[in-house]
Amino acid sequence: MKEIKMVDLQTQYLNIKNDIDNAIKSVLDSSAFINGKHVQEFSSHLGEYLGVKHVIPCANGTDALQIALMSLDLKPSDEIICPDFTFISSAEVIGLLRLHPVLVDVDYNSFTSTLKNIESAITVKTKAIIPVHLFGQAAEMEAIMDLANKYNLYVIEDTAQALGSDYIFSDNTKKKLGTIGTIGCTSFFPSKNLGCYGDGGAVFTNNDDLYDRMKMIANHGCKKKYYHEIIGMNSRLDTLQAAVLDVKLKHLDEYIESRRKAAHYYTDKLQGIEDIVTPCENAYSYHTYHQYTLKVLNGKRSELKEFLNSKNIPAMIYYPVPLHKQEAFRTIARTHSSLEISEQLSQEVLSLPMHTELDKEQQDYIICSIKEFFNK
Ligand SMILES: *Cc1c(COP(=O)(O)O)cnc(C)c1O
Repeated sequence: MKEIKMVDLQTQYLNIKNDIDNAIKSVLDSSAFINGKHVQEFSSHLGEYLGVKHVIPCANGTDALQIALMSLDLKPSDEIICPDFTFISSAEVIGLLRLHPVLVDVDYNSFTSTLKNIESAITVKTKAIIPVHLFGQAAEMEAIMDLANKYNLYVIEDTAQALGSDYIFSDNTKKKLGTIGTIGCTSFFPSKNLGCYGDGGAVFTNNDDLYDRMKMIANHGCKKKYYHEIIGMNSRLDTLQAAVLDVKLKHLDEYIESRRKAAHYYTDKLQGIEDIVTPCENAYSYHTYHQYTLKVLNGKRSELKEFLNSKNIPAMIYYPVPLHKQEAFRTIARTHSSLEISEQLSQEVLSLPMHTELDKEQQDYIICSIKEFFNK
């Protein structure tokens, strides 16, 4: 059996090696290492894939969130609502811009912020909501958009873990996650659904004014070179990474299907174990399983993790500490309600190996090992 990894980027590369090598070589041959045609081509292909008017590539997913927030007319001490149980980026850029993250509890089943919690956190200072489509599952976007319209709030979707996922509206129409809110943000970190071979990210929007503004922000605040209208950033997608991404974008749907197939296999085989809750799929969400995350009950998580590790099976805790317990947010974060689900999840979650090259033999070994642990 091949060594089991959380993410097997090497085998994935070997399967498309020729195309990737040629794409990298064409950048080397052109020696246009900053921007240039590869970046433009990839951006327009991604826009077509997502069905969104504008894509602005940038240096990473955290920058994408920062660019999005900087493009809105916010002032210090404005409040932005984001989930308590997630990766740090969304709350981090809120703090960096001297705004206040208002942390809300998440739903136990879907790991995403619930409408009720978001609504109860809205104050006169609230300016935006950042739903995070955690682990590849959509937050309740239709209801969140209604709420945002009612209170006149911006919605910035953190799509770093869910690029390619469809949102299914109640009338059965679909849209790609990241294209429903005011602005969508994503990351091309190597392990993400669409990952490059280094860092990368992008923002998307259908709004022409925000597009102009975000493009300017990502480019030192200027439209015309050396004429700076606002304070911006230097955030570019590397040209080599754009060339890699343009090749991998063609495989994204196929990669998503492999993840879903592997996830459904786990879910099917792991039924009936008392101390394990397998992930759910909400009806409105075409789950892309960036992570396959179990909940391990009755305090058995660390023992299970150690047992799996001793059998050369990696398993990871995403995320061990909820944001409201992070020292960095001690003075700036606000909360209006209990964050008990988030705390509970940080004690129970365990993500199993999940990637596009996971084979049945590896999965059977992982599943058998989990069963062995619980039958001991
Ligand atoms: C990965 C990730 C980010 C940040 O992406 P980087 O490219 O690493 O900056 C932001 N939000 C979520 C939910 C992520 O998983």
